[in-house]
Amino acid sequence: MLDVVDIGKRSLATYRGVAPDEQLDALFRSAERLRGARCLHLSATPYGGGVSEILRSLVPLYNDLGIVADWKLIHGDDTFFQVTKRIHNGLQGAPGALTESEKAIYLANSQLNARRLIADSEDYDFIFVHDPQPLVLASLSGNRDARWIWRCHIDTSRPNPSFWELLAPYLLDYDAAIFTLQEFIPPALPIEHVRVYAPAIDPLSPKNHPLPQPLARDVLEWIGIRTHRPLVTQVSRFDRWKDPMGVVRAYQRVRPHVPDLQLALVGSLAMDDPEGWDCYEEVRAATAHDSLIHVLTNLVGVGNIEVNALQTYSDVVVQKSLREGFGLVVSEALWKGTPVVGGRVGGIPLQLREDSGGILVDSVEECAEAMLHLLRQPEEARLLGERGREHVRQHFLMPRLLLDHLHLMDTLSS
Ligand code: UDP
Repeated sequence: MLDVVDIGKRSLATYRGVAPDEQLDALFRSAERLRGARCLHLSATPYGGGVSEILRSLVPLYNDLGIVADWKLIHGDDTFFQVTKRIHNGLQGAPGALTESEKAIYLANSQLNARRLIADSEDYDFIFVHDPQPLVLASLSGNRDARWIWRCHIDTSRPNPSFWELLAPYLLDYDAAIFTLQEFIPPALPIEHVRVYAPAIDPLSPKNHPLPQPLARDVLEWIGIRTHRPLVTQVSRFDRWKDPMGVVRAYQRVRPHVPDLQLALVGSLAMDDPEGWDCYEEVRAATAHDSLIHVLTNLVGVGNIEVNALQTYSDVVVQKSLREGFGLVVSEALWKGTPVVGGRVGGIPLQLREDSGGILVDSVEECAEAMLHLLRQPEEARLLGERGREHVRQHFLMPRLLLDHLHLMDTLSS
């Protein structure tokens, strides 16, 4: 059996007054046609990273609309997740190739998971497969009754061909694929229905719920942040694509101009991300001498509320990615009205528009300049954050994502 993630109950009615009314009205209308349908979301980890963040909020909302939805996890040991991380990196363009034994590990594990899915013997109408870790299950499970949808969360615009050639044959068994940007659609994708739409954040989750400033301050003091000093934060898995060392270098350039500036680097260590530990150690070693740099993880109790407090209270949030699928953390910060300095990659420019949200950068030097500019111009920073929040409200809240999924399901069922 695959593990079922225990999800809470949610009501779409509670989004009234928060998400746009027209999206909520459209959702109730679209759901009429799909009432009673059964859908499954399959992913690799219940916490750490954007996919689990989205599914925890999204899946209960289907149930509220009368569509039966489950979230299940594939199993895997360290070696499997080392291989899938290599695949993730390869699909984002990293060099190299899987060895024959790595391919065998990926396929053998997928085979085991396919058997678990078959053993569950549940009749799903739609199966959403998230990212490359469970990708092969559409072919191996032999289930042709369900509509299979691959939701790719990463930047597959320039995949390393050796990784792409390995996976492309398995995509033949999919009815649809979803990408965050048009340019992420890989060349020669063998899938009939291809959709482009962005992920979304949940404005009502503990991470995004409004946190009163005094409480945010207390939470931050509790984890060692000095709230009378300015603060810049990056919240990301410890992953080289997120360029935490680039953030440290940018911070070091700003520091002579703002001597009491603090930097918080917050990163969760996810189950399916074994490289995270090395990256974490590297960041720790490079910053250990500096008491104004705070390296914080889920392992020392930095969870949703702490991330919320950091995003709420920081003067500037940074997301200096070198490759990025979407970057939920950008919308999370903007939703709190906090301006963002973001790498001009992947889904970040979707969120930081001209004169709204923050500043896009292409290098450490530009990142430092943008941070300094926003720290020195608090009124401009506030306005950018405010406009960014409205942009997020219109485009990147959970009801919009659910609506896009329902439209796709509707198309596939007709
Ligand atoms: N996150 C968190 N704690 C951390 C690091 C990340 O809760 O220490 C969350 C973050 O708030 C966001 C998600 O993990 O909701 C990361 O999603 P994003 O799309 O930014 O990046 P991904 O990890 O999917 O590449």
